Amino acid sequence: MASDLINSEALERCEAISAPFRVSCGETFRLKDVDPGGTLDLAGDKRGAKAALEQGVQMLSELQQKLYAQNSWGVLLLFQAMDAAGKDGTIKHVMSGVNPQGCQVTSFKAPSAVELDHDYLWRVNQCLPERGRIGIFNRSYYEETLVVRVHPELLDRQSLPPSVRTPGIWQQRFEEIRHYEAYLSANGFLVRKFFLHLSKAEQKRRFLERLNNPRKHWKFSAADIRERAHWDHYMQAYEEMIRATATEQAPWYVVPADRKWFSRLVVAAAVIHSLHGLDLHYPQISDEALRALAVAREQLQAE
Ligand code: ATP
Ligand code: MG
Repeated sequence: MASDLINSEALERCEAISAPFRVSCGETFRLKDVDPGGTLDLAGDKRGAKAALEQGVQMLSELQQKLYAQNSWGVLLLFQAMDAAGKDGTIKHVMSGVNPQGCQVTSFKAPSAVELDHDYLWRVNQCLPERGRIGIFNRSYYEETLVVRVHPELLDRQSLPPSVRTPGIWQQRFEEIRHYEAYLSANGFLVRKFFLHLSKAEQKRRFLERLNNPRKHWKFSAADIRERAHWDHYMQAYEEMIRATATEQAPWYVVPADRKWFSRLVVAAAVIHSLHGLDLHYPQISDEALRALAVAREQLQAE
């Protein structure tokens, strides 16, 4: 079925906005090459960007309907970021046109005692999207190479046998994750990963805003300040993680996040471009089924 919204011009625009931030091969990736304040050349046209996001939300809605109807591909979108980078707002805005029935969001927090008694992917498997659905991970198994790396005491809590807790454990986890994502892709689950890249200065500004605005107090946690103290260590862990786990089939998007309107636009464009690449279509109705529809129509009309 032809669509007015999803035309070649709109798709080219999505590619132009998202491709500069896509990392499909990590070898040469350096975090310092992505400016958290970047906006391509769109800074002068915020109104145009807002209209583009609205159009993007509608395009996504249309693509999701096909994904759901076809019930074959599944989609996993995962988001990682430092606190206050805007994960929640991005998910809310970009997915605002999507039918909630075809979408599920999972927020990964510190693992429970039961979860710690299993391998780290155990809890993830239970939250994977079904075919035809979009699963969103707000944080993910990548925390196993981020917060757990920055705070080695968290690794102690995992009660790993000493012989598997080696200095090579992070490389080991990168390899496991690459294989896990390759496995998901090979089974018809599209994996797209987003790192909302915020600057330390903008994080400070957003924390102060939360502290100064009573309506935002609930968003603030003293733990956020403690994590901020480990900023450089986190950035190093993020860079290594992206270098080791960016692949053609499960690329990272390193999205400038200092301007919320821009990060939302990039994420929407990346998701649209990726979904369109699946060549989704409504299921074909067989001749026999068409005949059955004609009979049903006649029966109803004869009532
Ligand atoms: P928000 O603050 O916007 O509500 P959030 O994602 O920061 O969202 P929090 O409840 O503040 O949610 O934090 C969740 C915490 O759980 C984070 O500090 C994160 O690092 C931690 N976490 C997630 N996965 C793991 C893990 N596998 N091991 C240890 N800690 C984890
Ligand atoms: Mg938090």
